[in-house]
Amino acid sequence: MRQVLVTGGGSGIGRAIARAFHDQGEAVTITGRRAEALAETDGGRGLRCLVADVTREEALPAVFDRRYDVVVANAGTGGVAKVADTSLEMWQNTINVNLTGVFLTFREALSSMETGGRLIAIGSIASLKGAANVAAYTAAKHGVLGLVRSLAHEVARSGITCNAICPGFVDTPMADKAKTGLMTRFEIDRDEATRRLVASNPSQRMVTSEEVASAVLYLASPGAAMVNGHALSLSGGEV
Ligand code: NAP
Repeated sequence: MRQVLVTGGGSGIGRAIARAFHDQGEAVTITGRRAEALAETDGGRGLRCLVADVTREEALPAVFDRRYDVVVANAGTGGVAKVADTSLEMWQNTINVNLTGVFLTFREALSSMETGGRLIAIGSIASLKGAANVAAYTAAKHGVLGLVRSLAHEVARSGITCNAICPGFVDTPMADKAKTGLMTRFEIDRDEATRRLVASNPSQRMVTSEEVASAVLYLASPGAAMVNGHALSLSGGEV
């Protein structure tokens, strides 16, 4: 049984990843800031739930009290604003959670990870291309890919891999916020907001959290041992 850590395991994609690993018989630890959200993901499965903020270095020792075989840096936050309207506070918070949080998580994981270990970051299609009104998020997610590609070189000889998964819009609370924003701004209904979110996606639909979890399971599998420093686009052909 492998030890698996999933940050941001209290909702959306992190919840699906945590449950998928649990269903495979792995020992899963999930973290997040809200205890009740973590408990909901657990739902009696016996997952280890730890309240921890990924931006706080001092929270790391309690999370890394054991050696993990698989570490999924999934915690993230969104936010919509033109560059001209982006406050320094919003910029720094977006970078802290989405990029520095991944750095701190991976750095700590490395101190005890052994051959066969897997570092997996949940990037975004925003790791691969730009878009209006999401510069802070896009900069952070591009940064995640830079971190992953560099770290992949550092760990390659140890038999550890480091990869990123880059999904398009996934139907989670984060995407729901984006939909609500569009509904308010353009006075449109939820279906139309969804249609606009997936308009540039050839598949014309959102990715499911379970599809992201499947990709994570693949990257964590023995067969993916030579996949390293890769950005796996899950965007229905958009990128
Ligand atoms: P979500 O449901 O909002 O989940 C985000 C999770 O991150 C929450 O469980 C949240 O838990 C946790 N989190 C946020 N800030 C944190 C912090 N400072 N410390 C610890 N945990 C923190 O959104 P999601 O869609 O599942 O997002 C998961 C990942 O997928 C993110 O990295 C996101 O950027 C990425 N992604 C999402 C989409 C999409 O369309 N939804 C597309 C591409 C990539 P707490 O609030 O309890 O801390």
